Amino acid sequence: MMKALRFSLLQFLLSVYFFSFCPVNLAMNIEQDPLIKTMEDFSGYAIHEPQLSESLSSSLSVDTQNLQKQIDELSTFSDTSAPSVTRILYSEKDVMSRRYIKNIMEASGLSVREDAVGNIFGQWSGYEPELSPVSTGSHTDAIPYSGKYDGVVGVLGAIEAINVLKRSGFKPKRSLEVIMFASEEPTRFGISCLGSRLLAGSEELVQQLKKTVDSENVAFFDAAKSAGYKNAEDLSSVFLKNGSYSGFVELHIEQGPILEEEGISIGVVTAIAAPASIKVEFEGNGGHAGAVLMPQRNDAGLAAAELALAVEKHVLESGSVDTVGTVGILELHPGAINSIPSKSHLEIDTRDIDEERRNSVVDKIYQSALSISKRRGVKLSQFNIVNKDPPALSDELIIKAAESASRELNLTYKKMISRAYHDSLFMARITPMGMIFIPCYKGYSHKPEEYSSITDIANGVKVLALTLAKLSIS
Ligand SMILES: [Zn+2]
Repeated sequence: MMKALRFSLLQFLLSVYFFSFCPVNLAMNIEQDPLIKTMEDFSGYAIHEPQLSESLSSSLSVDTQNLQKQIDELSTFSDTSAPSVTRILYSEKDVMSRRYIKNIMEASGLSVREDAVGNIFGQWSGYEPELSPVSTGSHTDAIPYSGKYDGVVGVLGAIEAINVLKRSGFKPKRSLEVIMFASEEPTRFGISCLGSRLLAGSEELVQQLKKTVDSENVAFFDAAKSAGYKNAEDLSSVFLKNGSYSGFVELHIEQGPILEEEGISIGVVTAIAAPASIKVEFEGNGGHAGAVLMPQRNDAGLAAAELALAVEKHVLESGSVDTVGTVGILELHPGAINSIPSKSHLEIDTRDIDEERRNSVVDKIYQSALSISKRRGVKLSQFNIVNKDPPALSDELIIKAAESASRELNLTYKKMISRAYHDSLFMARITPMGMIFIPCYKGYSHKPEEYSSITDIANGVKVLALTLAKLSIS
């Protein structure tokens, strides 16, 4: 009875409010509105989420000079000479770059912590610090002879996005956190997105790391310890619980040519494709290229060639442009012009944003490998699915926040798919995820020519800042 009475009184007050004030007053800061406050106190429920002030988007300004200076400085921590960048997990240069990032986080007033494997977190406390924070971030490791923007824009740009919000006078409700992920690139230990996979709680990876060594036979834990991570074995302390964050947004260069070609400032990522990687080996009898007649042959090289064409066929059959497949490695043994290949080795990468469709391609490739081996009389000595990560969809609310941030900043944008994968793919396992792309020169990445203009970077930083602001009050 009491509850019903309270509710109808609340409804009455609400209708008075809407009929007399809407729509003009909807844009004002409802938190300050005394009528709403009375209604909220009375009902015990929040009636509206707070809104951002309309002037926020126009008061965001990026310190482009300082940001470019930081990008240039960070690129000097490299094992190869400029313009290339090489920064491998737990190397001396990687340790230097970590120190550099932590210093910048501290200078921006963030409270910094580091986990057992070296994921670095810098937090700006919100005015309701008990709520789960909104996070952003990327990586700073770089494959040999690559460029200075991949990942870096999403770390230094994220710290600058926080500075931009601080300078504008904005105060976040949820805390905002910048993450620098350990080892997005698989260079040293053959495991991509090592830090974010662990954050997402991969038990499988924990077991794998116990026996992982690099090409010089240095164990993962020894490498981590030499970089100062004495508790690296305590991997379960790295795991984050589902819901530790209310959202995660990564700013990244597109690594493809679409935004630049179409003259668009921002890409709002709707899904991240994920690869399945397969290693295949065929074995035949080999023999002399002249002496063994065609009907007597079982040529492992031709089996590999046929399988490569089958990969293309199965991918095209899916009917979607989002399904892709590549045979990037094809080796023949013994590799002599006058010898029938006795052994062949293929490595196949197939990707999609639809997991079922990608897995069905993997199955078809397997069926083809079996039938080719049977028909050609070669042995299928290996068909090893090395990894089969699930793709991820971006969260609708984060997509909407990034879209409206772009509109409010008068920046052109388009929704697009990330065909490369990122730490975001693994963060999506524990939190709603989204990504913001900016154009890069000719789509170049993973090479020294990689380049994004500071104007494009600043646009990305502003969209990230406004997106984080929106998410932090929801
Ligand atoms: Zn990257």
